[in-house]
Formats: sequence, C-alpha cells, structure tokens
Amino acid sequence: MSLDFVAFDFETANRSPSSACAVGAVRVRDGVIVDEFHALIKPPEEHADFEPANVRVHGIQARDVADASPWSHVYPELRAFIGDDPVVGHNAAFDTSVLLNSCGAYDIDLPSLTVVCTLQLSRAALHLPSYSLPWVAEHLELPLFDHHDPLADARTSALVLLALATQASAFSVEELTGALAVPSASTWTERDDALFASLTAEADAIVGTGFAGEIVCFTGALKHMVRNRARELVVEQGGSWQDGVTRATTILVTGDFDDRTFRPGAAFTSKLAKAFLQVEKGQALEIITEDAFVTRMSIGEEELRAKISAGGARTKVPEWVITQALTGESGDDFWAWYRAALAHPIGPAKGNEPCVWCGALVPAKAHWIHRERHVCGVHCNERLKRGARRAWDREGISVPVAPSVDWS
Ligand SMILES: [Zn+2]
Repeated sequence: MSLDFVAFDFETANRSPSSACAVGAVRVRDGVIVDEFHALIKPPEEHADFEPANVRVHGIQARDVADASPWSHVYPELRAFIGDDPVVGHNAAFDTSVLLNSCGAYDIDLPSLTVVCTLQLSRAALHLPSYSLPWVAEHLELPLFDHHDPLADARTSALVLLALATQASAFSVEELTGALAVPSASTWTERDDALFASLTAEADAIVGTGFAGEIVCFTGALKHMVRNRARELVVEQGGSWQDGVTRATTILVTGDFDDRTFRPGAAFTSKLAKAFLQVEKGQALEIITEDAFVTRMSIGEEELRAKISAGGARTKVPEWVITQALTGESGDDFWAWYRAALAHPIGPAKGNEPCVWCGALVPAKAHWIHRERHVCGVHCNERLKRGARRAWDREGISVPVAPSVDWS
C-alpha cells in the first residue's frame, strides 16, 4: 500500500452538473505528483449557456470552448488517466456529480470509482473558520495557487491529502480515511444495479438533507435569492436559521464574498470578524460563500434522491421499453433507436411527473438532461438503461450495433 490516487476538479458553464466546461487531474504515485491531465470541454447543447456567476468564478467563456472536444471524447481519455485509482476532490460530491451527469448526458455507462473528499477530510482533521481550498491550503502552508483553475485546484487538493496523510502518519488513502473516520464513497456498484426501486403512485416532493441539524446565519447581500427564501431553503433541507451569530451557530453564509474573493487576509465585516473570533475560541462554526451554499443544497437533494431510489426491489422495466424497442427502426442509427426505446410514451416530463424508477417527482426545474425518459437523475437513468438492456436480452430483441467506443 502506498499513497496512490488521482485528484480531479471540474468547472461548469452553469448550475447544471451536465455542463462541464473544464477538467483538471493529477496522478499521484507513492506520495508524489507524477502526471497531469487538463482539458477544456464543450458542454452539451442543452446545457451550453455560460452563466455570469460561473464565468466570474473560473473565467472560462463560450468562445473558449467553441473548438473544444465534447465530453464523449474527453471522457475516455480521463477514464484511462484515472485507471483503477481512487479519485480525490475538494468537495468531491460536486466533481463526482459533474462526472456522472456528464456521462449520463451522453448515455455513457457510469464508472465504478472510489471517491475521497479532501473537504470532509479537512473538516475531520483541522479546526478552521472555512474549509474551502484557499483556507485549507494556507493552513497547511501549501504553495499559492490560482483557485478555480481546474488543474491548480486538482494539484492543491492532492497536496492537501498528502499533507493530511503526513499529519496522520498514514501511508495510503485507505489508512487516512480510516484514521479520520471519513469513509470513501462509490459512484456506481453492481449492488446499485440490483436495487431497483418500486414505482409508487404518489411520491413526496423531494427536499434535501444538505443542512440537516445545522444552525445557519446569513450576512451580507445574497446575489441569487432574497434572504427569506434562503432561510426557507435551509428549513426545507433539515436545518434552522437565526438572525445573528451565537455560540449555537454552525454555519455562517456570507454574501459579501464569492469563491474567488473569500480567502485568508481579505478585509472582513464586523459580523464576519466576530465569527472568526468564535472559531478561534473553539466553536465549530464554518463560514461559507453563497456559491458553496447553493452547491450544498443541490448535492443534498441528489443524495436524498439516491437514498429514496435505493428503496425496494424493482424487477421489471416499464412495458414501453420493450414494445418501443420491438417497433423501433433498427439497423442504422444506434443512438436514435436507443433513445426512442427509452423515451416515455407521453412525451417529455414538464415537472412533477414521478420518476419511472423511484417515484420521486421530477422537479420542473431539474437540471437534468433526459426529461423525455421521466427519470429523476443520473442514477435512475442508469437503472433504466441497465434494466432495459437486460430486458431486451431476455426478450431476444436484436439491438442495433453500438458504435465501438470503449467506455467501461
Ligand atoms: Zn428516480
């Protein structure tokens, strides 16, 4: 065992996790960065808008990716770069979600990867006012880096893991996650494949778990929403809010800074200065930007959906997946045939239709690409795809030949 892994980082064009526009990765062998990977990505047409909030963070614009390769070409190279290594990211749930949703958008089978998050490891190992990458890097005395350049972020997150491993005297990724009691996650396993959820006629509206048990306070002007809406969202996601920072506060969301400007040494308002003091006194209070607040909510929703959809055991794909495959024009365009076979007969979901796998309502504004399938997200899409392939096999349906790309 040694410290072998690949650290990775994505940037997206907008808030959709299918809108990857850049990826950076570094390979670590025996505790040393030995190779790096960087690519600009042309987002899929349906998710190609560059939102100002995202451009402000990473500086990549539509014209920068006009000639870039789409994910369907970048992915095989990245997959080969990762190989059998665990992948490491700072807030890895975000990067993993981008990787999986990008695969989902192109119907590339989801890979089985082991995922380790340096944000979680840092929270477990350190006591800081913020665990965003610039703060953790400064605390660990890592070199200055260009935050939100994906390669620089990937490199820094690799160095964070290595520094934490040194601190914990861990000689492998497993030893480190064990020592800090931060389990790794997996992107897709055969067990997921077997856990087909039963259809339910009525499903509860999806609310997330992003702020379960947290006491959240806001400071400064928020850009994406009014403060009352932000407070409602905290409650919907299992938390509570308060007006001012107290000893009970666990999260302070600052609207005065974004992910680029919130760094050690910036000039802080009195409310923020008070929060830093509380942390110094030992309080477990984390200061996050509005960007991090929004990301945390969407990841919370996705986790909850994954939990719901891991419910009962579904043994049958929807009937139309078989009938449409039988009547579909086979032979020439594989992808046209495949997508027609999986499409819901009543047309694209407009919002609040139940997911055909787990029954969770597909939100009207879901940033999800295959609305015509009525699946709530990338994991249920994968179950539908794999279930359909099994059913076609069982029924002896001859499937047109897929283009020969090795995506496994
Ligand atoms: Zn679902």
